[in-house]
Amino acid sequence: MTQSREHELNLSAEQMRALGYQVVDLIVGNMHGLREQPVHRSATPEQLSHIHSEPVPDRPTEPGELVEFLAREVLPWSLRLGHPGCFAFIPSANNFLGVLGDFLASGFNISPGAWLVGAGPAAIEQVTARWLAELLGMPAGTGGLFTPGGTMANLTAIAAARSDRLGADTSRAVLYCSDQTHPAVLRACHVLGFAAEQLRFLPSRGHRLDHHLLRREIEDDRRSGRNPFLVLANAGTTGTGSIDPLPELADLCREHDLWLHVDGAHGATAAMTTRGRTALAGLAAADSVVVDPHKWLFQPYEIGCLLVRDQEALHRAFALEQFRAQAGYLDITRIAGNEVNLSDHGVQFTSAARALKLWLSFKGFGVDAFRAAVDHGLDLSERAAALIDVSDELDLVAGPSLGIVCLRYRLPDHDAFSSDDLDAIHREIADTVNEGGRFLIATTTVDGQQVIRLCTINPRTTKLDIDQLVSAIRHAGRTVNLSSRWCAPRVRARRRPSGPAA
Ligand SMILES: *Cc1c(COP(=O)(O)O)cnc(C)c1O
Repeated sequence: MTQSREHELNLSAEQMRALGYQVVDLIVGNMHGLREQPVHRSATPEQLSHIHSEPVPDRPTEPGELVEFLAREVLPWSLRLGHPGCFAFIPSANNFLGVLGDFLASGFNISPGAWLVGAGPAAIEQVTARWLAELLGMPAGTGGLFTPGGTMANLTAIAAARSDRLGADTSRAVLYCSDQTHPAVLRACHVLGFAAEQLRFLPSRGHRLDHHLLRREIEDDRRSGRNPFLVLANAGTTGTGSIDPLPELADLCREHDLWLHVDGAHGATAAMTTRGRTALAGLAAADSVVVDPHKWLFQPYEIGCLLVRDQEALHRAFALEQFRAQAGYLDITRIAGNEVNLSDHGVQFTSAARALKLWLSFKGFGVDAFRAAVDHGLDLSERAAALIDVSDELDLVAGPSLGIVCLRYRLPDHDAFSSDDLDAIHREIADTVNEGGRFLIATTTVDGQQVIRLCTINPRTTKLDIDQLVSAIRHAGRTVNLSSRWCAPRVRARRRPSGPAA
């Protein structure tokens, strides 16, 4: 950069345009070239030491070169969660309109937190939350708040439920969830100050919350003078896509005056489709639902959303008036009419205009395109499950549910292996599949065993990809089965006496 700009945080209009085009070209090239790239490239901290060890950059560097540096040395070293061959974690295939929404939000540096500060962006947040509520089938009047992700959305919901049902006295409060609940939700309970003994962490049945057991627990707690107030249900556990029995939970919560919260960060958006709406029956009866548009609504990170049937509950829990100390400077942001200060509805004060990207992509593509994309993800998991079902080498362990399928490789002499060996074999099968660079799959624990888990919600993934992935898993299973490493346990097993009768 020229000497004269040294003290300015400013670029000329021409420079800004040129850099902008450079960045757009890189993004477009990446989005269109994903299939040609490996799904995952990792590096050790040593390999990235030239990044770690850089001194504070007191003097300027040509920004175009820095963009090139990032594109060459930084951005490639990551997992491509939007790659059509990525089935690990929860894939996130962002869309270009979403990217532009983020670019606009940051370029104009708008914040929807207070009406006075950002009326336009606040209106976009409100209408987009209303659309989401409607798409999930929630009752009219449901409103919400956009957050950085599912973690903050769940935390906000639990805090709202606490204020609504307990007021100030949380001492005898009890909340309930199944052992399949996402750790982010449990951490939110911890952050909010609930002690471990206030959380009833109930054993699941078939990976779902057992509502008979829940009823007994609630009644026991009531009898012993505790104060049950909240059920944390799952609509799509991350491991198996399992859905808790929402209609039964809704009845139970109504009967006992408990708040029903549904963590649908992964799965709730399936309710936009006919199949998903059926699978998620009962969702609309929840007091609050979390969805993560940066997962199954194809938005760039970060965007989560909390939808609350009684929007006022958010205001009662979070309105600044309750916490006002030395904040006279905020008096001018007080609202006179029906405007909304969204910073009164959640934890964050200043927040990014996150809904802009979702608004732009909903409007630009039309919601039908999103429904079709979510449906496609459901199709892919059903296809994977069908292929697993007909294969005599594979066993379907869980799903297909909300785009997730779990499977195991069936070894010819399965009984010759300890469960630790079987777990190691499954991890090895996943590693073998991943070595090719075309697919990324991961294992998880289901019912105490390692299984291969596939999450098929990426709209860029094709049916052919699924067919080839299942073939790759079978092939890897055969390779690992035949490897010398696993011969010894077999021989040992064959020599083992077969019991007292022998
Ligand atoms: C992803 C996820 C979370 C955490 O959400 P973040 O967006 O990662 O903060 C919580 N619950 C479920 C079910 C999830 O899938």
